[in-house]
Amino acid sequence: MKILSSMEEMGHEQVVHCYDPATQLRAIIAIHNTTLGPALGGSRFWDYASEEAALFDVLRLSRGMTYKSAVAGLPLGGGKAVLLGDVQRLKTPQLLQAFGRFVNRLGGRYITAEDVNMCVEDMTEVGKETRFVTGKPHSQGGSGDPSPYTALGIYHGIRAAVQHRLGKSSLSGLHVAIQGCGSVGRNLAGLLHAQGVQLSVCDIAAANAQRVADQYGARIVPVDQIHRLAVDVLSPCALGGSLSSVTIPEIQAPVVAGGANNQLLNENTDGKALQERGILWAPDFVINAGGVINVYHEWSGYDEKKVTQAVMGIEKTLGELFLQAEKEHCTPLEASMRRGDAILQRAKSA
Ligand code: NAD
Repeated sequence: MKILSSMEEMGHEQVVHCYDPATQLRAIIAIHNTTLGPALGGSRFWDYASEEAALFDVLRLSRGMTYKSAVAGLPLGGGKAVLLGDVQRLKTPQLLQAFGRFVNRLGGRYITAEDVNMCVEDMTEVGKETRFVTGKPHSQGGSGDPSPYTALGIYHGIRAAVQHRLGKSSLSGLHVAIQGCGSVGRNLAGLLHAQGVQLSVCDIAAANAQRVADQYGARIVPVDQIHRLAVDVLSPCALGGSLSSVTIPEIQAPVVAGGANNQLLNENTDGKALQERGILWAPDFVINAGGVINVYHEWSGYDEKKVTQAVMGIEKTLGELFLQAEKEHCTPLEASMRRGDAILQRAKSA
């Protein structure tokens, strides 16, 4: 993968490769666009199959953050970081502090937060070396784990999608399949269960699925079966790429709405393929904005009521985008990107 050509193609401003020999930190920070404000986005610790895979991931994730914040109405740009390697072996306070020093050197152009395999305590370590970090623990004046807010936004996004596609204003009695029972999936399961939703779940980590089964009476299904279930809503809440030319023809749910970033393996074809099958897909960067809305408020002055209201607003935003897509004969993804582009263009002109 050619870095500069990829940056040009996807519109990135800056990509920083970080290496710290003392801790074996290997990280990439991608700043996609700072038109609306500093690039805020989480850091993900993952044992990628290759450096190329890590670069591809961080480029897509950071661009997603630009659109996520723009459509959510936040004065933030898009950025993301990936830390490469075996998290169990490598993640130490020293490594996190080394990462914090790299973030600090960017002088506030990039603000970090947690993502997959990074938690609030990790942000404390990163925060020892930089003030450009959010998602710190409540005990340190932070807003804590953002995933309950991400889940709240997804819950409201599911409501919007169910209203649009199935004409139902209540989720009670519906059946939702959740792929991935980590921080987001588990919190989402709790919200849906409280509304009388029947749940099927899966996770590659059996204990995570079992926890949701025990807490919310969910049925556990094999990881390779979850997308095939005849349910009302399929909710991808694991990692990206679960919607592909292989899985889309097998999906039976009329609605796909979940929290994972980069759900479409091929964003040029998979959004259209879902639409052609009559499946309403909630664009990931719109429905999963609850977390960034929460950490933004930590940065700008925290008020829990305001945060909750803003996150619940995802229901209205998605409802509008579904209607816009119908009116403009395009996919919800295209409608969402158009809205994001218009916001960025207006800011540039101003
Ligand atoms: P997490 O690491 O807590 O949970 C992910 C879960 O998915 C884990 O339990 C893991 O075992 C499981 N998993 C991984 N691959 C799987 C597969 N192929 N099939 C089934 N399960 C699988 O992460 P999280 O914070 O819950 O985030 C989940 C997704 O939501 C990620 O894509 C993340 O980028 C996105 N997201 C998270 C937040 C947030 O606030 N945490 C915000 C926005 C988007």
